[in-house]
Amino acid sequence: MNKDLLEQEAKRLYKVLGQITRLDGQKYSLDYCKKIAPLTSQINTLKKQKNALILTHYYCSPEIIFGVSDEVGDSYGLSKKAAQARQDILIFCGVSFMAQTAKLVNPAKKVFLPPTYAGCSLAQSITAKEVEELKKEYPKAQFVCYINSTAEVKALCDVCVTSANVFDIVANSKHEQIVFLPDIFMAQNIDAFLQSKGIKKQIIAAGGTCCVHDKYTLKDIEIVKQKYPQAKIICHPECRKEVCQASDFCGSTSAMLKYVKETSAEVFAVLSERGIIAVLEQENPTKTFLPTGRVCAQMKLNKLEDILEILKDNKDIPEVKVDDKVAVSALKSINAMFKGAQK
Ligand code: SF4
Repeated sequence: MNKDLLEQEAKRLYKVLGQITRLDGQKYSLDYCKKIAPLTSQINTLKKQKNALILTHYYCSPEIIFGVSDEVGDSYGLSKKAAQARQDILIFCGVSFMAQTAKLVNPAKKVFLPPTYAGCSLAQSITAKEVEELKKEYPKAQFVCYINSTAEVKALCDVCVTSANVFDIVANSKHEQIVFLPDIFMAQNIDAFLQSKGIKKQIIAAGGTCCVHDKYTLKDIEIVKQKYPQAKIICHPECRKEVCQASDFCGSTSAMLKYVKETSAEVFAVLSERGIIAVLEQENPTKTFLPTGRVCAQMKLNKLEDILEILKDNKDIPEVKVDDKVAVSALKSINAMFKGAQK
């Protein structure tokens, strides 16, 4: 590989990564950027040759986000980008349900997930069989599923939502009884939101919790407030209700990014996945982000090495497939979300 081009690539990487704090608390060094430059350089060349698009969730590592990605976003933004993609190959850096969703919204494309499988405690917290049982129990309810669910679960629900549109979609629903799954904390937050707006609906929660966001407690907020009284505390609606209510701002990942950019505060405690802090640091170099972010180990399974292997046609990383019958019904619930989110 051309030495000058690699040097240039390392400098490009250092320019974006140099201001970001790594998981070990250190800043990215030029030496580290030199080490990964051969990988990012090959990926960026091959993805053009193969007509591939790399879509990356904010929770993946900064090397992937800033080194090789074409689209970076939260679940909602990336599902829209995947639906609009014209490339032949979609490489989705995230967890399994996200890559499955990309395949659902753009079935003609070859979709790959670099780690082959990456779980999510929410998507794994409820099965299609359990949803079928709930449907018998609540025959009149509207079934609303968070996007963090398997295609089989989505296929049984009326509408899919993400944290970016859930409050609007549920508030605008004509149904009085809603079964919301698989995030019990988000269901509680929706209930609190509806009550604050004077909207009467019965929210029935099923499923589990996000094993990253459920760890935040009021104690974390207390500690931040004692040490950094000037800090703004922001969190994701996958957090516990009391944490959301005690925070200065609670919103989807994209809403948190917008809030930080638009507010004049200088110090923030972000109660969410660590990856978003890297993006915040890059976008807001003069602001300070306290080391409060927790890590989603499954998101970190995405590696540059595996992205390169996909582009080299390594058959050990298989295409993401969804059963045809499941796909038809699951797509209906996703399209209902796109329609509802436009209102
Ligand atoms: S952060 Fe939580 S919700 Fe997101 S992928 Fe990881 S386990 Fe799932």
